[in-house]
Amino acid sequence: MDILLVRLVTTISILLDSTTIILFLGIGYLLTFILISAYWRDVIRALTVRTFFLGKLAQSVSWFCVILRGDIPDFLSISIANSLMFVGVSLEIISLLSLRNEWRAGFRKLYLWGIWLGIIGFQLVILIHNEEDLRIVYGSFVLAFLQAPAYRLLRGSSLLMKVIGYFYLFVAAANVFRGATALLTDTSVSFFTPGIYQLIYLLAVYLLTVLSIMAFLLLWKEKINQELLHYASYDDLTGTLNRRMFTANAKASLDRYARKKEAVSYLLFDIDCFKDINDTYGHHVGDLVLKDVTNRIKQQLGENDLFVRYGGDEFGILLPGKNELESSTLAERIKNMLETAPSSLPVSYTVSIGVLTVVPDQHTLLEAMYKRCDQALYNAKRNGRNSIFRSQFSQ
Ligand code: GH3
Ligand code: MG
Repeated sequence: MDILLVRLVTTISILLDSTTIILFLGIGYLLTFILISAYWRDVIRALTVRTFFLGKLAQSVSWFCVILRGDIPDFLSISIANSLMFVGVSLEIISLLSLRNEWRAGFRKLYLWGIWLGIIGFQLVILIHNEEDLRIVYGSFVLAFLQAPAYRLLRGSSLLMKVIGYFYLFVAAANVFRGATALLTDTSVSFFTPGIYQLIYLLAVYLLTVLSIMAFLLLWKEKINQELLHYASYDDLTGTLNRRMFTANAKASLDRYARKKEAVSYLLFDIDCFKDINDTYGHHVGDLVLKDVTNRIKQQLGENDLFVRYGGDEFGILLPGKNELESSTLAERIKNMLETAPSSLPVSYTVSIGVLTVVPDQHTLLEAMYKRCDQALYNAKRNGRNSIFRSQFSQ
């Protein structure tokens, strides 16, 4: 078995020419960089994406410097190459953390200091004791330190984020292993020395290149999808659900309560004489009123309640599990609360509310509930506004 492995390794080692592979890696990085920046011209403007690809660019330049070792001054192929690798890897990790909104002030300072210390320390190693093994030990530990913050991706809600977090932690652990091997054993872990370590190292770097680019693009796509979903689900101005999302959630909720045979209430309300507020104080104040009404009402709602802005100054609230008495009490509380103007607004305002309570069955339609509640709201307006009217329909 051992002999087989040694034969395999020697065969592969013979086929593996480290310079060629590193050259291919460098070209791979560059091509990816060029292709993606051409394809995603708009996306590349986003700071996170730019940071990631700048990181990859730094790493590719670093690899080019490494393969030219011997042909260019050591200053470039060792000192600059390693510093660029530290910077490139850091930029990669920073962009991933930004995607998770984890690139925050306190940690940022510490991390940037870490990069500087890593680079300065490496120059000191070269100055004081310029020996390859020591450089590998130091460089590997610095890389592991710079990659380790990827553990923050494990806190992500998506499985994709967690898998990518583990992937980077594995890479950091591999660097620790390489550093420790160089420190504690006589085995050469230099990628210029053919053998099992060169094979493992080059394969790992190759995988890292392919996987990290794919991982970043997948995470970026996931983030964009989440943002799009948010824009498609919430009202821009007030942050309440929009009609589309509300309808989908409300229908699911009605189905659930039809099975439970429990009451569901529905409130439809509209700001009184809102047009006058716009005309007298301007649309800006009108917008502030819309935000104020939603902020204050949100505080009165439970986590299962669904709050929608239908458009203009018309809103709806679905109250799963709330019966006639509970929904009337809430409507009354909202009406009374809004009568007192908040100090932040130059104007006071009131609302009219239509209320409906049903015990839904499988035939109950949200659209029918809306119609009946709208009629109740119309009656509340006719009653002189700043009032509540209950729809007498119960189905
Ligand atoms: P009523 O008591 O009968 O409801 O009278 P009203 O003046 O409130 O009449 P209505 O509800 O029809 O008025 C809606 C107004 O809301 C008309 C429109 O200009 C204004 N509006 C719609 N969307 C917005 C918005 O996003 N911001 C602001 N400031 N005004 C809006
Ligand atoms: Mg109105």
